[in-house]
Amino acid sequence: MYTEFLECLTSFMDKEDIKANEPMSKHTSFRVGGPARVFLTVRSEEILRKVLIILQEKNLSYFVLGNGSNLLVSDLGYEGVIVYLGEEFAGIEVTETYIKAGAAAFLGRVARKALEEELTGLEFAAGIPGSLGGGVVMNAGAYGGELSQVVTKVRAMNPQGEVIVLEKDDLMLGYRTSVFKHKPYIILEVFMELQKGNKKDISAKMEEYTKARVEKQPLEYPSAGSTFKRPEGYFAGKLIMDAGLRGYRVGGAQVSEKHCGFVINKDNATATDIKTLMQDVAKEVKTQFGVELEPEVIWLGE
Ligand SMILES: Cc1cc2nc3c(=O)[nH]c(=O)nc-3n(C[C@H](O)[C@H](O)[C@H](O)COP(=O)(O)OP(=O)(O)OC[C@H]3O[C@@H](n4cnc5c(N)ncnc54)[C@H](O)[C@@H]3O)c2cc1C
Repeated sequence: MYTEFLECLTSFMDKEDIKANEPMSKHTSFRVGGPARVFLTVRSEEILRKVLIILQEKNLSYFVLGNGSNLLVSDLGYEGVIVYLGEEFAGIEVTETYIKAGAAAFLGRVARKALEEELTGLEFAAGIPGSLGGGVVMNAGAYGGELSQVVTKVRAMNPQGEVIVLEKDDLMLGYRTSVFKHKPYIILEVFMELQKGNKKDISAKMEEYTKARVEKQPLEYPSAGSTFKRPEGYFAGKLIMDAGLRGYRVGGAQVSEKHCGFVINKDNATATDIKTLMQDVAKEVKTQFGVELEPEVIWLGE
């Protein structure tokens, strides 16, 4: 099945953009994960449309990868096709207070572009290490800001290869969730509306947030940021700390001593180490405080 699939692809994709058995540890911020059966870098909407149609015909599973900063891939890898949008999808255009950017644009770059154009509203996003597409899927946020505050519309592709436009209300943006968690649409472009601001103030806010991240987060280790969602009325990190789990280890994975909300890859962790540690932590917090911790990190693979 895959041999035939790969042959079909070579008729319209460059060979370098088609990889077999690509280690996912190279593409995730946790730096763990076994091989993806096929890894495709897609460089145009037309190519994406063709790929999706073939995937449908051959009934193959696929997964859209952003910057891999909220992803935990099994040590056994992913028996399917990874679809990765190349830099051709990373353009950023600004008109007055409106920004249109490709799904593959890094959030940090979009935020810096807003700064250059003296637009306020994306300061919170400057230090989030994801792509804009992944950011919209997760409704990424920090320091009181989240993408739902600025996103007005999304252009996406459905599994049949048709381009669709989702207006703000269709996006169902909520706490670390959106319609894309339930519908297999691929985000192509994101439309945002910001406010005119003052460059000095925008820059000062970004610096303040960056400083706070460096001080409070274990950025020196691979991680996927906050491992669990914030349970209503609580903070996951505080619950984990109060449960006595600061520094708790399974193999090479550890509850960060600096910020208990982060699970880090301290020393050559496997995905199994990280997953087991997350399960242990959730179980202990449930036992001690009766609170369910739901992973924010997305699991991929067996
Ligand atoms: C050090 C660190 C700090 C972090 N801080 C924050 C923070 O402050 N706030 C926060 O919210 N998050 C934070 N995160 C988590 C992460 O950066 C965000 O969730 C980010 O939005 C994920 O984007 P990504 O491109 O890496 O997505 P990925 O991890 O690649 O994917 C996430 C989901 O989005 C889907 N996806 C990606 N691109 C597309 C697309 N074009 N179309 C359809 N689906 C797509 C994937 O299939 C997957 O379901 C942090 C992570 C790290 C490592």
